[in-house]
Amino acid sequence: MTDKERIELANILFPNIDKTRDYYEDKYPERDLPEGAMVTRYGPSPTGFVHLGNLLSAFADMMYAKQSNGSFFLRIEDTDQKRMVDGGIENIVSVLHDFDILPNEGYSFGGEYGPYRQSERTEIYQTYVKDLIVKGLAYPCFMTEEEIATIKEEQEINKTKIGIYGVYAQDRDLSLEEVKEHLNNKDEYVIRLKSPGNPKNEIEVVDCIKGKLKFPEHDVDTILLKKDGTPTYHFAHAIDDHLMHTTHVIRGDEWVSSLPLHIQLFEVLGFEPVKYAHIAPITIKDQETGNIRKISKRKDPWFGVKYYDENGIPIEALHLYLATITNTNFEEWYLSNSDKNISDFTFSFDKQAIGGTSFDEAKLVNLCKTYFSRKSGKEVYEETLKWAEKHDVEYSKLLKDNKEDMIEFLSIEKDGPRPRKDISKYSEVKEEFSYAIDSLFEKENYSKNESEKDYDIDLVLDYVNNYLKLDCDNETWFNGVREFATKNGYAASPKEYKNNPEDYKGHVGDICEAIRVMITGRLKSPDLFSIMKILGKDRIQERIDLYKNR
Ligand code: GLU
Repeated sequence: MTDKERIELANILFPNIDKTRDYYEDKYPERDLPEGAMVTRYGPSPTGFVHLGNLLSAFADMMYAKQSNGSFFLRIEDTDQKRMVDGGIENIVSVLHDFDILPNEGYSFGGEYGPYRQSERTEIYQTYVKDLIVKGLAYPCFMTEEEIATIKEEQEINKTKIGIYGVYAQDRDLSLEEVKEHLNNKDEYVIRLKSPGNPKNEIEVVDCIKGKLKFPEHDVDTILLKKDGTPTYHFAHAIDDHLMHTTHVIRGDEWVSSLPLHIQLFEVLGFEPVKYAHIAPITIKDQETGNIRKISKRKDPWFGVKYYDENGIPIEALHLYLATITNTNFEEWYLSNSDKNISDFTFSFDKQAIGGTSFDEAKLVNLCKTYFSRKSGKEVYEETLKWAEKHDVEYSKLLKDNKEDMIEFLSIEKDGPRPRKDISKYSEVKEEFSYAIDSLFEKENYSKNESEKDYDIDLVLDYVNNYLKLDCDNETWFNGVREFATKNGYAASPKEYKNNPEDYKGHVGDICEAIRVMITGRLKSPDLFSIMKILGKDRIQERIDLYKNR
């Protein structure tokens, strides 16, 4: 076709497109950002299911943009209507809010580079396609599905590459007359890229995570616009990331094989290339076989994001876990810097595991415990209350009615260089601190934690009624218990007892154990004196009564 014919063809195919490339290039100018600022995007398809892998890439997008004073935006990639699910978009937006992975721009967040939903950008895509047709870099292809299926069969038999390229690209060089004839017949068509590639040539791409990658040049005439005039993922990616001035495309590994096409699209369109960072999928060690396998929606409940909220895993703790997957050196840094938080850490692509990361529940639990240990009792109380209001309303009422006590209990052993590490989830607070709330304790009583031993109730009552002192410090209190112990034939220390066991009924620790079991219903608890102090003498006596009548 001549230049003139191509212009005519472009106008026949896109009569309603009256804007030009330049119009959009002017409308979306370079961003005014400092040197080195990264512009990242999260581009989910609204399929209705958001998983940990999605959160991971959105988290990385957010952190890289934040630390470089760039921008992180949300783009809804709804070009594939078949994959759309009712409420899918709302779900994505609410997950980002729930998990505090907030873009500073994008769909539902606003910004200068919208619309941020691909189905609202059809005119833009068509403008660029129209331009490619004028330049002879794209063409309408009228091949039927049957024709394409026959070619595919042949390619499979011959074990050659599947697709429309070279001799198979039969509509590449149709004359204007032939195209007009098809159009008169109302034949359906797609727009294909006239790929300039030669697979004998090699291209080299440097992935920010994977390093140097080599591929044969792309030579398939990939579809740019589908029959309904909407773009394929590939074409929309090139147009959008160019016009939105994305600097780094952080996305799942499954897109690596599309890189030669994407690089070519940027070239053909005359765009500056973007940088790519491909994240390998999260894997898991199979419980039954012990083999590392791909995560599965059906087998791995933690894969879906609902799991975290339902189980009471704090958002910030989940961020810590995502950070450990994003950078292999994060965990050590965090554990050894008790005064720092995630935003003090500098993420870098070269610290990302190339081969992917295995989901490690123990690591998540440990990070959660560390998270809780660094929070004050008041903070733990407030967060737990918020969680319980959603997931355990009855408990939330108890928490509200016992606010002051609860904060005091949650604050035990928080000061000092090694704060207490016990709970790993909001959902554990109720059980772990069941002794903190009278009505809860009465209900639970001694059923779960009672030791098998038969404790001397009279002895403990004697101590509480006649010796117990609470308006003192821990040491004075303990000396008091010791004194009481020796008066009653118990050794003042486990060591003394061990040296001459026949001389004693037991040692001071046994008395403490008896008190502990009676007032907390368990053998292990945070500092006993602190618990006694919060409860006060009357409630201690009530609990001994409860124990007696159990
Ligand atoms: N819409 C694509 C997906 O959901 C996003 C890929 C990308 O980030 O480029 O897989």
